Amino acid sequence: MKIRILGCYGGQLLGFHLTSFLINDTILLDAGSPTEALTLEEQYKIEHIFLSHTHLDHIKDIAFLADNRSLKRWSGESDASAITIHSLQVNLDTLSTHFLNNIVWPDFTKIPTKKDGILKMQSFQAEDKIEVNGLTITPIEVNHPVPCTGFLLDQDGAQVIFTADTGHTDRIWEVANAQPNLRALIVDCSFPNSCEELADISGHLTPQGMAHELRKLNKLGTFPIYLYHMKPETLTVMASEVEAENIPHLRMLTQVDVLTIEA
Ligand SMILES: [Zn+2]
Ligand SMILES: [Zn+2]
Repeated sequence: MKIRILGCYGGQLLGFHLTSFLINDTILLDAGSPTEALTLEEQYKIEHIFLSHTHLDHIKDIAFLADNRSLKRWSGESDASAITIHSLQVNLDTLSTHFLNNIVWPDFTKIPTKKDGILKMQSFQAEDKIEVNGLTITPIEVNHPVPCTGFLLDQDGAQVIFTADTGHTDRIWEVANAQPNLRALIVDCSFPNSCEELADISGHLTPQGMAHELRKLNKLGTFPIYLYHMKPETLTVMASEVEAENIPHLRMLTQVDVLTIEA
């Protein structure tokens, strides 16, 4: 499994991209930055988007991915296939009502035609196992102010867990503990320790909160842990706070990382 980090920050500043991970060139986990980070040809390869939740920093580039592909379709390229967005039904409803509503942005599920839109929507329920392009993806509910799922990815007997945006939570750690061959964990770490209350209110973690959560893992230290969703303007102070937690095999993601996961 190849995980290319397109963006891993919880805020947008010059040079810092919002959350989006590209799996095996064809599947996106969240869509905060694909049109900022990928060439057009790379964008055309995307077939699926697994969407954790509908906060703007995770959906923004659905708009521009669809727009770019629609231009290809207009130019007569019939192979400009649809992109299927997978999420909780409540999140797909939110996209339709508040984002792709022909007011904020065109409804690309009905463009160029109602029968054959650029975007398709496919709902899942938490803990469904979804098979797509040789990967099994299982959404797991986490703790955020809006409905949100992290994802368990499984390919060829190797598992990876992405918590998505979350505050203190339990279920995803139970799932992590149940995996036979967990090879990587990507975890929310958004605010410095001085913003603990803000983190709680907004459903995120600080370095201290993240360390508290990781103590729920049975095999901590046996697989790499990557932090994401850091607020860019607090990176320096957060880096020293993360280091002070002294957790083995743990570091912050960067948006040029490509993680190669093997069983
Ligand atoms: Zn969020
Ligand atoms: Zn976010």
